[in-house]
Amino acid sequence: MTATTTASAAAAETAAATIPFFPPDLFEDDRDLLLDTVRDVATDPAQRFILGERTARFEELLRTELGAGHVIACGSGTTALTLILRAAGLGPGDQVIVPAYGCAPLANTVLGVGATPVFADVDPHTLVIDPDAAEALITPRTKALLPAHMFSVMADMPRLRTLATRHGLRLIEDSAVAQGAVLDGRPAGTWGDAGLFSFVQVKSFGGPGEGGVVITDDPELARTVRMLRNHGQDGVHRFRHHLIGLNSRFDEVLAGFQLRRHPGLAGRLARRAEIAAHYTAHFTPLADRGVLPPPPGTNGRCYYVYTLLAERRDDLKRHLAVHGVDSHVYYPQALPQQPAFAPAAPADGHWPHAERAARQSLSLPIYPHLTDAQVDRITEAVLAFPG
Ligand SMILES: *Cc1c(COP(=O)(O)O)cnc(C)c1O
Repeated sequence: MTATTTASAAAAETAAATIPFFPPDLFEDDRDLLLDTVRDVATDPAQRFILGERTARFEELLRTELGAGHVIACGSGTTALTLILRAAGLGPGDQVIVPAYGCAPLANTVLGVGATPVFADVDPHTLVIDPDAAEALITPRTKALLPAHMFSVMADMPRLRTLATRHGLRLIEDSAVAQGAVLDGRPAGTWGDAGLFSFVQVKSFGGPGEGGVVITDDPELARTVRMLRNHGQDGVHRFRHHLIGLNSRFDEVLAGFQLRRHPGLAGRLARRAEIAAHYTAHFTPLADRGVLPPPPGTNGRCYYVYTLLAERRDDLKRHLAVHGVDSHVYYPQALPQQPAFAPAAPADGHWPHAERAARQSLSLPIYPHLTDAQVDRITEAVLAFPG
């Protein structure tokens, strides 16, 4: 054995000992399925690689499952948001209230259509938009509320719906990470005038590539989204462009793959919820050590990630690394403090809960194929943090 292979073997062993945050074997069980799907699509006489019959069946499967009027598959969760904002007619002069903590698309899609994001602080524990903070920011220019379900918790949709109705606002539900969550009997994605899912790798029904869907009961909005996703064409007349659209189409390989993995989704989500319940039961007593688990329960929850708040977050992250547990910080900065979005926010603005979440949040591994032994190791490692 050469020195190089010995070194890489040693490195591989160390890597094997550490429980990764992003598992390298996420699609291992579905490897043959993926290769079969590539071959099926590639050799299908239809030779449709985007927006073919697999995509149509995938849309129909989700539509039926959600009991929604329309599901429109598109290129990503981010473009799903853009398509919704465009179809809702939002643009220059309009204000859209978004959470001050979350992922970049919450701000950049709003700015991208020429509207202005108005950042509302989040709840200090659930980390989703605080409806009181949102209400305080409503002005005559406000046209929409854009809450996002964050980490494992759905936003307070009943209160946000009341707020939207009272003030005549559009309610756009960023449910990108919450596929499978159900709040008060109603699925995530169906609470807003429109909702969306993302199928990027890390999301609750992630796949090996980019993809998303728009969900809506509004036939006019659905019709416009369908046109906008494919260069403004109506699906009947090729090369007749009714609207200034974009390219946000869905891949047939992803559609075929997701159609066949869909029956296993509920089981994978249940396993995630089971791991989350185990973590929360063990971590609840850690409050006096400055470590706060997410609120327990299953109503309005989807454990696409499991996120703690830790007063000494960076120390906890280092401690876990020493104990062979990889962890991840989503998101280390509040949105209005990002260089790209700060110019859109008031210079003297403060979002204390968002800023604290950016300093304290830490996500643990929670993928469904973690073994019970790995879950115990992660739990023990967190419990051994001296605080
Ligand atoms: C991931 C995510 C998106 C964007 O989805 P992509 O498919 O990555 O473009 C939008 N909103 C939220 C809350 C997300 O977590």
